[in-house]
Amino acid sequence: MNALYLDPSMPKRSPDMVGQLSAPLQAGEVALVGAGPGDPDLLTIAAIKLLADCDAIVHDALVSEAILSLGSINAECIYAGKRGGRPSADQQDISDALIRLAKENKRVVRLKGGDPFVFGRGGEEARALVRAGVKFRVVPGITSGVAGPAMAGIPVTDRTVNSSIAFLTGHELSDESRINWPALVSAFPVLVFYMAARILPDLAERLIVAGLSESMPVAIIHNASLPDETVEVGTLAGAKSGSIKALPPSIVIVGEVVDDRTPWKGS
Ligand code: SAH
Repeated sequence: MNALYLDPSMPKRSPDMVGQLSAPLQAGEVALVGAGPGDPDLLTIAAIKLLADCDAIVHDALVSEAILSLGSINAECIYAGKRGGRPSADQQDISDALIRLAKENKRVVRLKGGDPFVFGRGGEEARALVRAGVKFRVVPGITSGVAGPAMAGIPVTDRTVNSSIAFLTGHELSDESRINWPALVSAFPVLVFYMAARILPDLAERLIVAGLSESMPVAIIHNASLPDETVEVGTLAGAKSGSIKALPPSIVIVGEVVDDRTPWKGS
């Protein structure tokens, strides 16, 4: 699989390509587009233009109605969310649908929450498109792990706290963990977790066992940038005991940057 990316014949970006991410799609082309965390104001210009002029939109559960309403009224809207909480059971079907639509000469927008390549399986879809010989482009989006803390007034880096951040998925707890937790907490002063809402107490316990203080600040940002956004702030001990809770979808940020929070919406 890496060979695709190491291929020296891969097209290089040239100066005349700048500003062309939003150029009209060709028939049979797919755009893997990041939709950001939810508020349409956080879409890119390319995302807005491509949505407005396409034949099919294939979207995930986390793409908001407000964003879908910006899609062309002529576009077929296809929901490709994961069913019944089974992670990725139908990933192959999604890739197959993108390929089928492209082969039907449709101009396809594959809209994914946040950034398509951050815990979003966009890489798998891109590789399937390459294998099928389908032309595609990638339009980055604002990832919720960065937007969520910003919406809550939490700087993910602060000169006095951290010069590195780790982005992780909570799925690491349920699957065979590939993470060396003590090494993780000693290397990264700030940890940002996706998909961690349901396992928050276990996660907090794991971090404490790995060496973090029970008083380490934690923030939970639920539905970041959406009308029902909520922010909860507490400590690892509180997250472990359940006195602060997370509903999915949430971003969980652990680290002293949480104490630098400057609420800016009067919340
Ligand atoms: N590609 C996405 C992440 C997909 S994984 C991105 O870059 O943001 C899904 C996880 O993203 C959710 O479980 C949650 O942790 C996070 N997420 C997505 N949208 C969110 C939002 N508006 N508010 C809080 N968390 C969000």
